[in-house]
Amino acid sequence: MTLKKRGKHRYGDRQEDIQAEILRYSSENGYVAQHFADAVCKCGGRLFGVLLDDNEGAASRTCVACKLQHPIGDSEEYLEEADLGECACPCGNETFEVTVGVSLYDESEDVRWLYLGFRCPTCGLTAVYGDWKNEFNDYRELLARV
Ligand SMILES: [Zn+2]
Ligand SMILES: [Zn+2]
Repeated sequence: MTLKKRGKHRYGDRQEDIQAEILRYSSENGYVAQHFADAVCKCGGRLFGVLLDDNEGAASRTCVACKLQHPIGDSEEYLEEADLGECACPCGNETFEVTVGVSLYDESEDVRWLYLGFRCPTCGLTAVYGDWKNEFNDYRELLARV
């Protein structure tokens, strides 16, 4: 782990650092993330523009390389109601590496809480941009749709 703190932000130099930040954030939140998945486009791309509404619990990513749009997790069900905003790093960059972490109910494969973490490849800022209660029955299936 190479997460470094500068001011109130944390900075990482690899996508794995997003996991570390989700772990830290989720520990404070009370529902610790146990499973993770990195977003990878069908084309192999790992940089995305992201539209997000964390009240509605919906996010959609667009691959920088091939422009394919993909709803993250089970977001498709909520996109219609969502008031999506474009995510931007404080440095001005609007494309990110994306990792999702989930917390499960005890002794269960059912999801309880979802965390959406980004790392900015320009300045390295690594943060949880959204988290919400997510009731999905099988975490493996949810993470396969990240
Ligand atoms: Zn792509
Ligand atoms: Zn940045």
